[in-house]
Amino acid sequence: MPAFDRGLILRMDDLPTLPTVVTRILELALDEDTSVGEMAGVVESDQALSTKVLRIVNSAAYGIPTKITTIRRAITLLGFANLRNLVLSVSIYRSFIEGRADRGLDKNRFWQHSLAVAASSREIAKLLRQENPEEAYVCGLLHDMGRIVLDHVAGDAYEEVVRRAGESDADPIDLEREVLGIDHAEAGEVVGERWNLPPILREAIGGHHPARTAVLRPPSVMAGIVHVADFLAWTQSLGSLDARRPPVLDAGIGERLRFDRLDTARVLSAMDAEMARAAEALGLAAPDSQRFRRALQRANVELGRIYSLYDQAKRHLERQVLELSALNEAIRRTRRSLDSGEVVRDVLEAIHFGLGYDRVYLFLPEPGGARLRGKLVVDGTQMEIDAARLVVGVNPLRDPFHPSFSDAMQGTVPVLSLPDKGPEKELLEFLAVDAMGLVPLTVERRAIGLIGVDQAFKRVAIDKSRLESLMVLAHEAGLAIENARLYEKTRELAVTDELTQVANRRKMMGALSYEMERAARYRRPFSLVLLDIDHFKRFNDTFGHTAGDEILRDLGRILVGLSRNVDIVGRYGGEEVLIALPETPLDHATTYAERLRRAVEAYGIRVAERFPENAVTISIGVAALSPDEKAPEALIQKADLALYRAKGEGRNRVAVST
Ligand code: GH3
Ligand code: MG
Ligand code: MG
Repeated sequence: MPAFDRGLILRMDDLPTLPTVVTRILELALDEDTSVGEMAGVVESDQALSTKVLRIVNSAAYGIPTKITTIRRAITLLGFANLRNLVLSVSIYRSFIEGRADRGLDKNRFWQHSLAVAASSREIAKLLRQENPEEAYVCGLLHDMGRIVLDHVAGDAYEEVVRRAGESDADPIDLEREVLGIDHAEAGEVVGERWNLPPILREAIGGHHPARTAVLRPPSVMAGIVHVADFLAWTQSLGSLDARRPPVLDAGIGERLRFDRLDTARVLSAMDAEMARAAEALGLAAPDSQRFRRALQRANVELGRIYSLYDQAKRHLERQVLELSALNEAIRRTRRSLDSGEVVRDVLEAIHFGLGYDRVYLFLPEPGGARLRGKLVVDGTQMEIDAARLVVGVNPLRDPFHPSFSDAMQGTVPVLSLPDKGPEKELLEFLAVDAMGLVPLTVERRAIGLIGVDQAFKRVAIDKSRLESLMVLAHEAGLAIENARLYEKTRELAVTDELTQVANRRKMMGALSYEMERAARYRRPFSLVLLDIDHFKRFNDTFGHTAGDEILRDLGRILVGLSRNVDIVGRYGGEEVLIALPETPLDHATTYAERLRRAVEAYGIRVAERFPENAVTISIGVAALSPDEKAPEALIQKADLALYRAKGEGRNRVAVST
């Protein structure tokens, strides 16, 4: 079966043709100057047609008491438009329906549908105060001509469409497109082009399934009217096909045409009247109540099914929206913050609160990369897990049957299930879960760590596809962490003395005045230590500046190693170091200074082999803050005086300011 398309249908030789009389009538109908005589002349030129029209006009359905014998008289009695519509429908019926064998399409049913949609469209157009309701009738009458055309040109294939529409839940439009390559709305519009139908008609035909139009465009009002009429016809078991899938009323159209306010009872009674006329004139019986009830029942079942699908889809969508907004919020925050600790916590919390994982972990590789260690846990289970206790080895060999941490470090998103052995087993058992999802934190495709999630409390499975949506976040988080790390590094550089890695003078002075003010305000003890390397000039002169630098570097390490976190160690001058000691009275500071002195002395002995006869030692001055002091300079001067005394007293000693 060759697939049809616009071009093919336009060029097709055996396309059904529109009777000349129909074309003429349409032309006359559009021409405002048409006279009754002209119209009557066209109809009467087709003897069989006019006989049939007159027979219908005289039937009981029209309820005209006197017998009408001429078309001219019929026009006067019924009105121009009514007669035109009648002529159109009769001639189309004669050309395409009457006496034609059913192939795929049930022709009588199809024609009933067309008349029902035509009459309803006209009534809706009237209710909506449209300028030309009769036009709506013609649009409704022809809206499904594409089906006739497809049935005609595709034969067996259209039979397949109709059969499958009756057996499956597939949308007939999808079936048409699948089997034939084109749907009836598009085919109808194309044929309308061939037939030179006026644009308003072609648009209504092409757009009467607005949500499904092949060419995306806003539906015309006519197309909308026909769409609603089509739907109403279906509710009366007057659909054009016996399809299982109920049609869907387009929400946008329903709203635009105020479907909720539409007087559907009036539309339906107009439809009934048309059906009665068709029964009378063409012998087309209206659907019996049996068929009607069966169709309704089926539709109810279908609607129930569709509603539950819809409900499911809605909940799915709602969840996804929630997840996306949580992700979005987390990403937004990672961009805002430059503090890597804060970034990581934000990300883990977004995953925990936003995505509903019970516990979320951050694992970072230890130096060397052979093991991963937990850095942070966001825990909704109150199990108070100490992140640092979570350690797992990374085995670079991958086992396709047992996803592992190394898979995640290599960029995939595995869901670990409790393995028989190995480090993953230990970790999962320790956490008392049987599954954990892992997502790599990536920077330029390199994993710099992992996010782990579990459902320790909810005990629901971890869905791999949902986990994959975390990848976006993980990537953003990875970048943020990397940025924050860089930022922290540069910020540290600016306050750190490069050689000794202790605070530089600027940082030291800032911290000192802050600490001193705090101590003075709260009347807390505070001491200051100033130390200086003995005879360092000589050392430099003997062993060179580079060796001197090495000593300074070691000194920084020793001092930091011996101080508390709250102490501030800073390089004050060339080889002079200041140490601020908050919460420390003078005697404690003195003891501490003595410890420093001894540590450096011991160090000096250790390096004496390399630097003979120049023992590295330091002299120290200690001073304490007195209650009335505030200026750092004064305190430093006191310490400096003490230091000077220590030098004078023979170096390698501690002197205390009095
Ligand atoms: P004193 O025991 O009296 O303190 O003797 P000193 O030689 O240590 O005293 P002085 O203050 O005269 O000399 C300080 C020396 O410290 C001068 C300089 O050679 C050395 N120095 C200062 N900063 C650095 C540095 O960054 N690297 C090195 N290698 N030496 C430094
Ligand atoms: Mg249709
Ligand atoms: Mg010195």
